[in-house]
Amino acid sequence: MNTRYLLTPGPVELPAEVLRTGAKPLIGHRCPAFSELFARIEKNLNSLLKSEGPIIILPASGTGALECMSVNFLGKGDKFISVSCGIFGNRFREIAERTGAQGVYVDVEFGEAVKATTVAEAVKKNPGCKAILITHNETSTGVVNPIKDIIAALPEENRPLVLVDGVSSVGAMECFPEEWGIDAIGTASQKGLLTPPGLGLVWLSKRAWAALDGNICPSYSYDLKLHRKDLEAKAPANPFTPPVSLYYALDEALKEILEVGTGIWFETHKRYAGALAAGLKGLGFELLVDEEEARSPGVTAFRFPRGDTEAIRKKLRAMGIETAGGQGKYKGQLIRVAHYNNWGWPELCIILGALYGAADLSGTVKADFLADAWKIWIREA
Ligand code: PMP
Repeated sequence: MNTRYLLTPGPVELPAEVLRTGAKPLIGHRCPAFSELFARIEKNLNSLLKSEGPIIILPASGTGALECMSVNFLGKGDKFISVSCGIFGNRFREIAERTGAQGVYVDVEFGEAVKATTVAEAVKKNPGCKAILITHNETSTGVVNPIKDIIAALPEENRPLVLVDGVSSVGAMECFPEEWGIDAIGTASQKGLLTPPGLGLVWLSKRAWAALDGNICPSYSYDLKLHRKDLEAKAPANPFTPPVSLYYALDEALKEILEVGTGIWFETHKRYAGALAAGLKGLGFELLVDEEEARSPGVTAFRFPRGDTEAIRKKLRAMGIETAGGQGKYKGQLIRVAHYNNWGWPELCIILGALYGAADLSGTVKADFLADAWKIWIREA
């Protein structure tokens, strides 16, 4: 059977109008219509992030956005602190080390969030580091790190630049880089931004732009200053041919999110994740993330303590539901389902019902697992 429900944490199931808009006839990327489109996307991205200034859009996946931040800010002889609580935290440090810079590793148990005090201590212990690399939403475990609190706890003096992997956070949860004091954040189109894969996005603080003064970026296509120059021209443009169809789709997706309003949008995602967690617990699944506050509004990871988790994923696939599995040390042991889009109660019932069938739970579960989920879903709805 074909996939009917795509529950992987990117790409995600997209609103029909986003897909339709992406299929519109192309326009030239040096014509006024493209400049208008680009300017509107910039304005709406800045509304979403409550920020100002250029947001560089690259033809790249999330990895490209992380690489772009790394090659612009780091190089041979530099030291950075890399805080990781999962596969993507580890990936970010690997990318950064390709520049020749050297990482000081701070590792937190997979499934746990990073504590503000842990990062502050690492900064005090390692003076002279140019940057801190950290993941906002760790997709491999479904953990959100408290970036705002982490930055607030950093020493003011000689603070390293804070480079954030926001690939799986932006669009699905509060992420306000300027307000929180982030210096650079990279994200991608295919998760919270409800767009097909293919765009990497990077925002920088004023301090971070100033830090690039006089630098020559060793990558031409990821040179942030080159992109900024064309974006801030009278007619906003791209230095290289952009994937125009994806710009169409992103424009529509941002319009849909902002029409709902970011407050309601973020709150609904949290509520959906909470209702899903309650339903999963009622079914007898174990959530990987114990601490409720650290659970991601975008992706939930859980295991089945009484049987073969991979067999359940296989059955779900046969039912037309595609999920993601565990990664790294949790390979083969987790089911991860994403909830970045505008799904609600009906889809939640389909997912919980399919899990009930796939894990063969008849007669073994709390009869009111749906009622548990419903109670949370209707809260403040
Ligand atoms: N960082 C995080 C937190 C991610 O979730 C992902 C993708 N799952 C990446 C980086 C890499 O992004 P991409 O696969 O788009 O290159």
